[in-house]
Amino acid sequence: MIACSNIAIYFQRKLISQNNYILQSPIEYLKGVGPLRADMLKKELEIFTFGDLLNHFPNRHIDKTKVNKIKDISPDTDYIQVVGKLMYFEMVGEKRGKRLVAQLKDDTGTLELAWFQGISWVHKNLVEGSTYLVFGKTGFFNGKPQIVHPEIESYVPSKAEGSSFLEPVYPSTEKLKARGLNGRQIGKLTYALISIMHPDELQENIPLPICKALHLMDRYEAHCQIHFPKSAQGYQRAMHRLKFEEFFIAQVRLNLTRLERHRVSKSVVFEKVGDIFNTFYSKYLPFELTGAQKRVLKEIRNDTGRGHQMNRLLQGDVGSGKTIVALLSMLLAADNGFQSCMMAPTEILAQQHYIGLSELLKEMPVEIALLTGSTKTKERKRILQGLLDDTIHFVVGTHAVIEDVVQFKNLGLVIVDEQHRFGVAQRAKLWQKAVLPPHVLVMTATPIPRTLAMTAYGDLDYSVMDELPPGRIPITTVHRYETARASVMDFVKTELVKGRQIYFIYPLIEESEKLSYEDLMQGYEQVKSYFPEPQYRISMVHGRQPSEQKETNMQRFVSGDTQIMVSTTVIEVGVNVPNASVMVIESAEKFGLSQLHQLRGRVGRGSEKSFCILLTSVRASNEARERIKIMCATNDGFKIAEKDLELRGPGDIEGTRQSGALNFKLASIVNDKELLEKAKEMAEKLVEEDADLIMAKNLQLKNYLQSQKGKNGWSKIS
Ligand code: ADP
Ligand code: MG
Repeated sequence: MIACSNIAIYFQRKLISQNNYILQSPIEYLKGVGPLRADMLKKELEIFTFGDLLNHFPNRHIDKTKVNKIKDISPDTDYIQVVGKLMYFEMVGEKRGKRLVAQLKDDTGTLELAWFQGISWVHKNLVEGSTYLVFGKTGFFNGKPQIVHPEIESYVPSKAEGSSFLEPVYPSTEKLKARGLNGRQIGKLTYALISIMHPDELQENIPLPICKALHLMDRYEAHCQIHFPKSAQGYQRAMHRLKFEEFFIAQVRLNLTRLERHRVSKSVVFEKVGDIFNTFYSKYLPFELTGAQKRVLKEIRNDTGRGHQMNRLLQGDVGSGKTIVALLSMLLAADNGFQSCMMAPTEILAQQHYIGLSELLKEMPVEIALLTGSTKTKERKRILQGLLDDTIHFVVGTHAVIEDVVQFKNLGLVIVDEQHRFGVAQRAKLWQKAVLPPHVLVMTATPIPRTLAMTAYGDLDYSVMDELPPGRIPITTVHRYETARASVMDFVKTELVKGRQIYFIYPLIEESEKLSYEDLMQGYEQVKSYFPEPQYRISMVHGRQPSEQKETNMQRFVSGDTQIMVSTTVIEVGVNVPNASVMVIESAEKFGLSQLHQLRGRVGRGSEKSFCILLTSVRASNEARERIKIMCATNDGFKIAEKDLELRGPGDIEGTRQSGALNFKLASIVNDKELLEKAKEMAEKLVEEDADLIMAKNLQLKNYLQSQKGKNGWSKIS
């Protein structure tokens, strides 16, 4: 789009493209940069090369032909561009409020400009009495309109009038602005760069048939137009293309990584479904499996029968019945002569799994053991021996099972429950417990939004259980202010009278264990005053208790000996007390969405109607109110996960790997879902058809991936 016939440009090109890759040239060699600015660009924006600058995209464009009048500025005005005469400078304020102010005057009024930093630059470069084009975000100070740190440049009439393109404005920083590189000035560098670039230097990286099918703008053109659009439509198309490119490249990589693992990872083979599985299935399975459970079992059976390692993520909502899927997989392993191990994040949960599974396996010829930090020495010895000689087939436990002393004769399957509490290193440790790595099934506590799963976990195989067992009575969730506590307690009493059990949950205040503790103690006293002993019996569980005491208190609630459980979020994960019908969550505004959902999943597990009451202060923030509203509106964990992602953005979602796969510059997994789906579909098809990328149409893509090797931590492509 930009001519490059000019002689000077020719020489500059020659100078910098000695290594053939203009985009890899150090940024200081670009016209208008030099060593000082280069240093700043590196430090402030991580722009090291021409290519980095090309990929530093504008966050908006302004129409230079649009000049506003000062009198039109109102409190609703956002950004504004005005032309006026700079009147006089003055230092005002003291200490941290110290600033340089000037007045900009046009024929309709006066606008104040203020600088807190870079004052010497202003003095050196701006001239009183001259006319300037000023751009910035307006605010009001003492009732008068003001722009702090405006973008300002000499006004050249011919420049503002008649030129039709939109001028890019780039993310910049205060330090760069002080060096004369504000959001618009960076655009001058970009312009210089694009002027010397040849289309061949930015080769297409999406196979042409896909470009054609999706009517994508070509790569070079898209980079030109994202910076300097020829029209609004051109800009849209450029944006569309570049977003697709980001998703597509990421998806191709994820698919290649997954495929690579399938190819090279050897593992044990579960050849057959045998007597153990079949006997249990026909005689002792206490219910009919849901369609989703059956489907997932089939997927697991497929995975484990091929000789490659299964690495499957099983997502299901709270209560969707992941445990039975785990058990049946363990039986499948046993049928093929392999041991299984199941890890839970807490002692309480491991114990519950152990009790539940032992009960189900009562009549079966398999041995199951519980191994945790508090397993007594003698019992521990017995278990370690049993795992070594294969007289124990299943072991359920906490981190204790990954200790080095725990050795298996024949480990074939590892199940990790409530995945986000386990680190990658811990899982790797389990791999090492067998000659061939065991199959791995990771189960999440709550669903992960689909788009996030596709990007952050796209290199794993994953299964979704999107169906709850039949006959569940939906939990009713309501919001009450703390001021209405008395009536909440009255309601709790009516449930207690019916013989039900109740949870009171208090937040864990992360910054202060002490505060959390005091909160909980106060809460405990309060609950006790409403429900005095001996008529009512209360358990309390919190992180400061020794684990034995925690256990005893928990057990008393599980067995029904106590009717009320007062606790912090330590009971969040997995606990199963079907008779509990009410959960009161105190200071609910302090909890995240997925945590609230996970907590709520502790009720509604029995045959009785259950309730979740979210208590908040009247001062809860808007965002907290939004969360509470969502909780009251739906019980669907998948919907809640989506909302959580929308509210918090992908960086913060619990259970997300710190993954380069999420570093998109333009695309957003929240706002560009359809594009992501499309990219995924195309990438899957491509990798399926040509995994080695040897077809002619995929060569450029292959070159591109190789040229990016080592960037973003990707190294798999060979
Ligand atoms: P989660 O997926 O949250 O781990 P669980 O595995 O604890 O859920 O199952 C929740 C409850 O549902 C358990 O009491 C379990 O016995 C029961 N359950 C699981 N699958 C079914 C089914 N297909 N039909 C009826 N009840 C089921
Ligand atoms: Mg569970």
